[in-house]
Amino acid sequence: MKITLIPGDGIGPSITASAVKVIESTGVNIDWDLQFAGLTAVEKFKDPIPEQTIQSIEKNKVALKGPLTTQLGKGFRSVNVALRKEFDLYINLRPAKSFNGIITRYENIDLIVFRENIEEFYSGIEHYIDAQKSAAETIGIVTRFGSERIIRAAFDYARKHNRKKISVVHKANIMKFTGGLFLECAQQIAKEYPEIKMNDVIIDNMAMQLVLNPNQFDVIVTTNLFGDILSDLCSGLVGGLGLAPGANIGKNVAIFEAVHGSAPDIADKNIANPSALILAGAMMLDYIGEEVAANKIRNAVAKVFREGKKVTRDINPNSFVSTTEITDAIIEAMEK
Ligand code: NAD
Repeated sequence: MKITLIPGDGIGPSITASAVKVIESTGVNIDWDLQFAGLTAVEKFKDPIPEQTIQSIEKNKVALKGPLTTQLGKGFRSVNVALRKEFDLYINLRPAKSFNGIITRYENIDLIVFRENIEEFYSGIEHYIDAQKSAAETIGIVTRFGSERIIRAAFDYARKHNRKKISVVHKANIMKFTGGLFLECAQQIAKEYPEIKMNDVIIDNMAMQLVLNPNQFDVIVTTNLFGDILSDLCSGLVGGLGLAPGANIGKNVAIFEAVHGSAPDIADKNIANPSALILAGAMMLDYIGEEVAANKIRNAVAKVFREGKKVTRDINPNSFVSTTEITDAIIEAMEK
């Protein structure tokens, strides 16, 4: 099977190399179609999303992508956001699961965040409202169509994976139209899934509840910005960004990536944790029907964490190995 591979920026090339090595050692036969995006593509082609990258994803329908650098407050628009829009990848699925051996404040966390991936404050409709640049506005559009399909995706996932509860996160007390519409859609759709309990939680309370007692939650569905923030929070609950995979899924195309960014502070040092992208690779294998290989990867990663001897600096700053060493440890731990 042909899959588009985008190494990305910063730590991207080193962690994608790890993910490819681990995926290939499961025995699954993948023909990687190497493409570029982000800063690397600007340097090579003067274009953050070259046409051949778009065409490759369109043709192959599945991509594994390293993180891409987006400059703050200036420069080209986020390539990640543009790719999600281009392929209508409306589901951002971000699981956060505890691993034995990773020391965190909580145990047995098993959360799934469904983040709406296209609308609201990531619409890119923003500008200064006067010539002096003394005020700026961003327009966040929430539609019934967009809300219904992400909420339905969350309920379908819960039904398929025997999850018992969905928490709908919003700010409908203040944003009565955008938040209100999202909540109303959830209340309607929940009626079609009587076996799944639904509750709604206001975002500020949700942030506090997640820190206080994350085990009370199961599946979370929310709008774009809240989903982005909460999924980083959830990754922090299970040991940090180095462990959090994500998938951007649409009707026809899916792009798999880590939740984290390009981590320029640790680029080219061979110390980044490749596990998030490796676990995103496992999600990709699930998506293409290679569940056995996906489970092999998850079990191998879990074994390396459980043993705790060969982990990266973000997991154990007192005793750690390099990106390449943890990659080899995961391959070594894999059942043949
Ligand atoms: P970041 O996620 O890159 O890094 C945050 C912190 O976590 C840093 O201290 C970093 O060293 C650490 N970290 C991240 N990944 C790690 C890993 N695998 N192993 C060990 N430590 C890790 O966030 P940032 O610094 O806010 O953003 C850097 C760039 O990444 C920005 O240009 C941003 O726009 C971009 N970004 C891209 C994506 C994506 O491509 N999907 C997502 C988020 C941010």
